[in-house]
Amino acid sequence: MLILGIESSCDETGIALFDTNRGLLAHEIYSQIDVHADYGGVVPELASRDHVRKTIPLIKQVMVDANVSKDEINGIAYTSGPGLVGALMVGACIGRSLAFAWGIPAVPVHHMEGHLLAPMLEDDTPEFPFIALLVSGGHTQLVEVKAIGDYQILGESIDDAAGEAFDKTAKLLGLDYPGGPMLAKLAESGTPGVYKFPRPMTDRPGLDFSFSGLKTAAANVIRSEGIVLAGSKSTQNENAPENVDQIKADIAYAFQEAVVDTIAIKCRRAVEQTGIKTLVIAGGVSANTELRGKLAKLMKKHKGQVYYPRHEFCTDNGAMIAYAGAQRLKKYGNNELLIKARPRWSIEELPAI
Ligand code: ATP
Ligand code: MG
Ligand code: FE
Repeated sequence: MLILGIESSCDETGIALFDTNRGLLAHEIYSQIDVHADYGGVVPELASRDHVRKTIPLIKQVMVDANVSKDEINGIAYTSGPGLVGALMVGACIGRSLAFAWGIPAVPVHHMEGHLLAPMLEDDTPEFPFIALLVSGGHTQLVEVKAIGDYQILGESIDDAAGEAFDKTAKLLGLDYPGGPMLAKLAESGTPGVYKFPRPMTDRPGLDFSFSGLKTAAANVIRSEGIVLAGSKSTQNENAPENVDQIKADIAYAFQEAVVDTIAIKCRRAVEQTGIKTLVIAGGVSANTELRGKLAKLMKKHKGQVYYPRHEFCTDNGAMIAYAGAQRLKKYGNNELLIKARPRWSIEELPAI
């Protein structure tokens, strides 16, 4: 079964062709980072317009890349939520309409199920049951996964998501949007032990997270060190200390260490609580090298294993949507003539496969 996947929930247009026998045939990702850079965050209306501009050309492109004609495609999977409603509507309308025109089914896909299943696109895939750590721009969740579609949220962030905390702190340090990867890069030249930030909510039982306090802690240090808080791109204050770049790197190091430590503590608890020794990490922050390293060590200690998607499939992409859609179509089929876009949607509401 050959499925076309369309992802348009935020600021990436991701298109892919996935075949249930042959695997991933082609994929394209267009990132709108440049469109939103001047605003320091995603502007929803601009995102929608750019998806309108890019979706159809990229669909044509993957068909050329994979040397596939429309007659060979058996279904279309599109992200129907959660995400920005205007952006979602673009993928949903194009996906549903194209499926109608081609006389094939269209299936609405949950974006976080897409992230959660992205490691299934790799050669070495996890067995059920597993614990999934979803760490992205909008979500931080620990999910017990018994099967595809059988999801129980064990814990989640009560305020900022991990990626959001990375991005906000990066902004305070004067880095461009999205700052997560840039903050991680800056942390590489940071000195351990100069600053120490809290590990929020680790002093009490439970698997929920909180990251907004960490951002405030970083903001306080940035202020007290005489580095101007970023609102604009120039953070270089006339009176800033000479070694401002090193101070920033040291702050980035301490911040990343605190986030990674906090996440690892909660993962350890989830493993101990459930007895499940397979950990899957997915979503943009799962690209973080320190996080991967720390969790690999943790799972080794528990005689378990950690799985994650290849780098480009950690953040938003069409391949994960095509894969998740293929699983749902195989099981249920779906030819409702509805265009579905749900800005808010819990992964627990999905039916099991
Ligand atoms: P959601 O999936 O919750 O709707 P999203 O789609 O915006 O949110 P993703 O595309 O999965 O999120 O991930 C983007 C996030 O990942 C951004 O916050 C980005 O800063 C963060 N990120 C990407 N790479 C890294 C990295 N190496 N270290 C830390 N954070 C990273
Ligand atoms: Mg993005
Ligand atoms: Fe995402």
